[in-house]
Amino acid sequence: MFEVDKIRERFPILKREVNGRDLVYFDNGASTQKLQSVIDTVSNYYKEENSNVHRGVHFLSGLATDKFEETREVIREFIGAEHTHEIIFTKGTTDSINLVASGFRSLLNKGDEIIISELEHHSNIVPWQMCCEYSGAVLKIIPLKDNGELEVNKFESLLSKKTKLVALSHISNSLGTINPIKEFIEKAHKIGARVLIDGAQAASHISLNMQELDVDMYCFSAHKMYGPTGVGVLYGKEDILNEIPPYQGGGEMIKDVSFKKTTYACLPHKFEAGTPNIAGVIAFKSAIEFISDLGFNTIAEHENYLLEYATQEILKIEGVKIYGTSEKKSGIISFNIEGIHPYDIGVLLDKMGVAIRTGHHCTQPIMERFNIPGTARISLAIYNTKEEIDVCIESIKKAKQMLS
Ligand SMILES: *Cc1c(COP(=O)(O)O)cnc(C)c1O
Repeated sequence: MFEVDKIRERFPILKREVNGRDLVYFDNGASTQKLQSVIDTVSNYYKEENSNVHRGVHFLSGLATDKFEETREVIREFIGAEHTHEIIFTKGTTDSINLVASGFRSLLNKGDEIIISELEHHSNIVPWQMCCEYSGAVLKIIPLKDNGELEVNKFESLLSKKTKLVALSHISNSLGTINPIKEFIEKAHKIGARVLIDGAQAASHISLNMQELDVDMYCFSAHKMYGPTGVGVLYGKEDILNEIPPYQGGGEMIKDVSFKKTTYACLPHKFEAGTPNIAGVIAFKSAIEFISDLGFNTIAEHENYLLEYATQEILKIEGVKIYGTSEKKSGIISFNIEGIHPYDIGVLLDKMGVAIRTGHHCTQPIMERFNIPGTARISLAIYNTKEEIDVCIESIKKAKQMLS
């Protein structure tokens, strides 16, 4: 049986007050709160295990290296990748996408095409704009429908022999849309294009299997999965990772260095120059174990229940409009209230202890598409409760009264 109170006990910050009220944290799309086990692992690493990885012959270096590599294996299993060396540690989703975009430049010719969509996070737009600027490739955009789904037909008409890469998010951080990525991947592969998926909003909410998806590259961030900041993953099929040149040069990523010729290390080290976030990577394992132990059926059941309840209650408020009403939706509710700026709602809710996000959520093209300055966004996580939604709805009603 799923007991949300037991889950909440594992997140110490959820006990605190904000502005004299019990914290209601609905900004999980920006970053989730941290497990006690994650905090303990970080602290214990610095107290008991601290040393650099892959370098020393001494005991602590061996211990740190083993633990660091254990996380890589746990992630391989978690996402159903074939090989452990297909898991690259990065700073986060943004870093993972930049790693690929920066290397992909050299694989592109003038006139080649990259396809992204109108609902991407800026992290999955700007690196490709930069990539195109350097390579002479052209960026093509899949448009959005009114309900926040992508136009699959338009995607098909954009695909051609010129298409070299399709980069899409799995779940929209602004609209909650769960994109049918398997369908997109199949269509892209038919014409020989590679596919990168931005999974920042997916990895803690839905079960992933890289081999089933047959995706070429997949990115996510630990801090949106109850884990530490400064750690992310780039999964890539071995062949594509071997094709892409290194992102950064330095220690750890080389085989031999000389002034005549330097050769690069094999995967995964080729993409991991310099000392990584060792404590963060080791603690990420605790977060993955938490998610795996719960299981995605339990997670989906609880989060879908909250999403449905919150949607139903928020729609009872007069003048509310929800952006993103696709059939397959994750726990994200973006809304506006007629005649009220979303920022004002956010400020008043904060006074009442409720943390939501307001603004463009790093997706300005979506705001342009709907012709709005921004939205107020509730984003859910496994530790949220029905009671918290009730507090939030009451607070929105109060804010609305004060503002109109
Ligand atoms: C948060 C987010 C990112 C960026 O992740 P970082 O951890 O900030 O690098 C990219 N895409 C989506 C969809 C996101 O939600």
